[in-house]
Amino acid sequence: MMDVFDQLESEVRSYCRTFPNVFSSARGHRLRSVDGREYIDFFAGAGALNYGHNDPHLKARLLEYIADDGVTHSLDMATEAKRKFLEVFHRIVLAPRNMDYKVMFPGPTGTNSVEAALKIARTVTGRNNVVAFTNAFHGMTLGSLALTGNGGKRDGAGVALTDVTRMPYHGYMGSDLDTIDLLEQHLEDTSSGVDMPAALILETVQAEGGVNVASNPWLRRLQALLKRFEILLIVDDIQVGCGRTGPFFSFEPAELQPDIVCLSKSLSGYGVPFAVTLLRPELDQWEPGKHNGTFRGHNLAFVTATAALERYWSDDKLSSDVQRRGRIVREALQQLAASHDGRVRGRGLIQGLEFHDKDAAAEVSREAFEQGVIVETSGPQDQVLKILPPLTITDDALQQGLEIIKESVAAVTDGLTAS
Ligand SMILES: *Cc1c(COP(=O)(O)O)cnc(C)c1O
Repeated sequence: MMDVFDQLESEVRSYCRTFPNVFSSARGHRLRSVDGREYIDFFAGAGALNYGHNDPHLKARLLEYIADDGVTHSLDMATEAKRKFLEVFHRIVLAPRNMDYKVMFPGPTGTNSVEAALKIARTVTGRNNVVAFTNAFHGMTLGSLALTGNGGKRDGAGVALTDVTRMPYHGYMGSDLDTIDLLEQHLEDTSSGVDMPAALILETVQAEGGVNVASNPWLRRLQALLKRFEILLIVDDIQVGCGRTGPFFSFEPAELQPDIVCLSKSLSGYGVPFAVTLLRPELDQWEPGKHNGTFRGHNLAFVTATAALERYWSDDKLSSDVQRRGRIVREALQQLAASHDGRVRGRGLIQGLEFHDKDAAAEVSREAFEQGVIVETSGPQDQVLKILPPLTITDDALQQGLEIIKESVAAVTDGLTAS
């Protein structure tokens, strides 16, 4: 089944090892493989498919655009599709939230957005250092990789990953220590050895890092501290933005006002590569062409992104559905956690189940795949089962998938106690 990939594709491939089947078609929360099996997708392209696979409304707009010979590629020339996206993004996302940002198209992937954020933060402040958190994940190109915590990923760089200071994320030192105290102490003490940073980069929920959730008071305290030292706040909302936690931006409940916001993954709504970097207008000090690229803002992504915003963000229905479905997931996981010595954490429709036994999550993921659910693990030791269904999944499919997870956990933990 996997022969062609084993023979011809680089060893670097990874998800096809975890989910070894050949997929041929997909719709909504369902993926089909060439051997006729059907899977419920609790992985959603690592957050790139918040509206599921091949959403029919988005697809219709895309097909229409292609059929009409709409411009596909145009570098960053002005196109009708780009104008429409900018207008709709402003009208539906920014204006109602009183957010005043310039929209930059940095290249089509998340790491492009992070690299652009770093560049402009360093340029504007004239400082080199950037603070990143333990267990952070910000992408795989050198600048973003320097921010990323994971040792295995960092090993791949082959050069020094510099100009970053690591600080402990919320809860990293246990519940008795507020890690902001540590950051504050380092910033206040001119002999701490920490160079005054240009920026701090934050995930409000660390997705790859193990579904670690920062509390709203912690986030607000962090923001106040950064303001005091005139350090820019970059929020990487690439995975948990676009409604994953409920609101469009994950930082809305904490009322953060980031200086820079990175968005990608589900922004195009269709799995088409697309990223933006949002900048407070005062920070938009780019010289024209200073951050260039061939695929910055692609018209097909403009079309699907615009359609997704119009369809899902013109009212708050999706947002409240996410909260409700998040509670369904949470309750199911809490029952599992109670009977299997686990811990649950998350927000909206990103929920994690950490097992006491570090190998259990990976085994549950394998077993669930056998039983027809695609679900990923995260965390430094892949010890957290990460539940990330499309936000638009039906309640029936959600329950069905959770039932299979439950059976998989039972199969794995029975096996563990038996061996
Ligand atoms: C996926 C992700 C990135 C990197 O995006 P790519 O498109 O893979 O480059 C950066 N930050 C976060 C939080 C992510 O989840």
